[in-house]
Amino acid sequence: MSEIKNKVVLITGASSGIGEASARLLASRGAHVVLGARRTDRLETLVTAIGNEGGSAHYKQLDVTQRNDMEEFVGFAQKTFGRIDVIVNNAGVMPLSKLEALKVDEWNRMIDVNIRGVLHGIAAGLPIMKEQRFGQFINISSIGGHTVSPTAAVYCATKFAVGAISEGLRQEVSDIRVTVISPGVTESELADSISDSEARRGMQDFRQIAIPPEAIARAIAFAIEQPDDVDVSEIIVRPTASPY
Ligand code: NDP
Repeated sequence: MSEIKNKVVLITGASSGIGEASARLLASRGAHVVLGARRTDRLETLVTAIGNEGGSAHYKQLDVTQRNDMEEFVGFAQKTFGRIDVIVNNAGVMPLSKLEALKVDEWNRMIDVNIRGVLHGIAAGLPIMKEQRFGQFINISSIGGHTVSPTAAVYCATKFAVGAISEGLRQEVSDIRVTVISPGVTESELADSISDSEARRGMQDFRQIAIPPEAIARAIAFAIEQPDDVDVSEIIVRPTASPY
């Protein structure tokens, strides 16, 4: 098995939920984690906690919608460690609503964070990985990247896009691994971004069977720890009780 130990793993959206759980797990297994998000107070607390447990963690403020931010985030990791092994494009938002509610600003935010954010991660990391002739992108999609439901049309569109972009990238590169991980309903702060009262009520029932974010973190670790010539291209992790 390829070691997680000493790998340089960048995680976007590491200030809560799946990103935070992944940072903790990968650092406990010896990775150097470099964490990005907008809420740096959260990142600072997390980096301190990981350090207190003997792990290696750094953070940098990151808004994935800003290409410059992403270039600086990735550049910081490369300067600090001399290489980049994995970029986990995890940052995402999910302000669900029916299309007829015309929450166009929220549609744009999902497109900016969930699609453009992943593309910015690829744009910043790909030239470095090509030069190194190794690397791995782990892009976080969703079960919403496989099926569509009412109130989730735009969110699902962004997650279908993550799948399409990842598959295209996988086909174009030969020495860089590309993994898509699609979580089912998982405990996190994701539903807090829902402003529409009907969609919010619907989510309360839907989320009762949520699995802990550590379940997704373990899938990320599994994809990283495979030998370099093995690309786990797709994993779906959902609650056992989930009908979706
Ligand atoms: P959380 O809301 O807990 O975490 C989302 C993270 O994204 C936060 O750290 C947030 O940090 C970050 N983020 C949001 N906007 C930006 C931005 N512009 N720039 C940088 N970071 C940003 O939710 P999850 O942990 O659940 O979400 C992680 C991923 O998992 C998302 O892509 C989500 O779509 C996906 N997913 C989650 C599921 C679930 O049920 N939880 C199911 C399927 C997929 P900050 O606000 O500090 O910037």
